[in-house]
Amino acid sequence: MNHIVIIGCGIIGATLAYELSLIEGLKITVIDKQPPAQEATGAALGVLMGIISHKVKGKAWRMRQTSIQRYETLIPELEAITNRKIPFNRQGILMLLPSPEVTTDDLPFWEKLRETRRNQGWELNILDKAQLEKICPQVDVTGREYIGAIHSPQDRQLDPTAFTLALVEAAQHNGVDFKFGVSALGIKSTSNQENSSARELETTSGVITADKFIISAGLGSSPLTEQLNQKVDIRPVLGQAIHLRLSHPLGKTKFQPAITCNDTYVVPRRGDVYPATDYWVGATVEFTQDNGEVIADKELLENTLQSAIATCPELAKAEIIRTWSGLRPRPEGRPAPVIEKLPGYDNVILASAHYRNGVLLAPATAEIVKGMVLESNG
Ligand SMILES: Cc1cc2nc3c(=O)[nH]c(=O)nc-3n(C[C@H](O)[C@H](O)[C@H](O)COP(=O)(O)OP(=O)(O)OC[C@H]3O[C@@H](n4cnc5c(N)ncnc54)[C@H](O)[C@@H]3O)c2cc1C
Repeated sequence: MNHIVIIGCGIIGATLAYELSLIEGLKITVIDKQPPAQEATGAALGVLMGIISHKVKGKAWRMRQTSIQRYETLIPELEAITNRKIPFNRQGILMLLPSPEVTTDDLPFWEKLRETRRNQGWELNILDKAQLEKICPQVDVTGREYIGAIHSPQDRQLDPTAFTLALVEAAQHNGVDFKFGVSALGIKSTSNQENSSARELETTSGVITADKFIISAGLGSSPLTEQLNQKVDIRPVLGQAIHLRLSHPLGKTKFQPAITCNDTYVVPRRGDVYPATDYWVGATVEFTQDNGEVIADKELLENTLQSAIATCPELAKAEIIRTWSGLRPRPEGRPAPVIEKLPGYDNVILASAHYRNGVLLAPATAEIVKGMVLESNG
């Protein structure tokens, strides 16, 4: 039996584990130094900017489209296996077009994108200011000028932690072996003149022998590739966010999309309470300093909160439940994500460095990796 070891159980490793568990004849082991969904995944807002993204062709668009399509089947599939609900907001994404950052000169771009999406089988709606005010009264159209808004009804938002935990449970149900609290220390390989083959993974709980190794360890991927003399440089970009609670839902209870304005997100947080009275607000984008450190800047978080309040003034009355930060894995000097066979190795696959879109791109990543696994099995 073909044994595959997946290193890292954030949203990427967990999605890989579940999707690969659907292929017959594979033995799959997942290791993580922590419980699942602790690092970038545990900090993410879960907004899936697929149809509303500016990507219209090539791999970047194909991956977005594949993910948005797969999420529609994956969520009910996982809910049926695990018998629990995954918070999945089907009311789309509403992108506000504030003035003066956006002008009427930008509208032809959106009209063209709407046309492209229509030809691709997707929907985007351009709303003028009056329509925006009507469907989303929580947005203050008097305090700030808006050209209008874009509503993308087929884009989604989900709870990344609940989703990852459901993937783990469903993959376990399909026979995947998870080892949490186990760190990958290094991969041992053998070489011939053309290629190297990884054979054994050294871990804090002993050696695991396998036929294939998939590195999906986020920021932890860099040291593992370095140890194989093929360093893929992945660096942290910090993001901070806030959980807010109101006594009532914002705007209309029946229309609660994720709202974005100037890169600040106001995300209805579906918990046990329906309609949502909790909201996630985020996220900052903070790069490393010259000394390589990245420290959460309180002022940037406050700016993000104030930007959300400028959009939806009622948020000023909200109670702050918690604030948090996470590190996004960003590849240095190349586009995100990195999904490839590690150069020089015939059985090591890297699926990492998804930067700001790991939740969005997890299903498409699994689709690509599945292709690589099947190709080398065939
Ligand atoms: C504030 C914030 C908001 C975000 N919002 C969004 C959003 O709205 N939409 C979106 O698509 N993306 C969003 N992202 C980005 C998204 O979170 C990441 O792209 C995604 O979570 C990356 O997933 P991952 O599984 O690759 O990495 P991680 O979640 O970091 O998981 C890596 C795992 O590998 C394990 N690991 C590392 N080294 C080792 C080792 N040596 N041995 C064993 N295990 C190891 C870690 O313990 C960890 O569990 C956001 C990120 C942040 C920080």
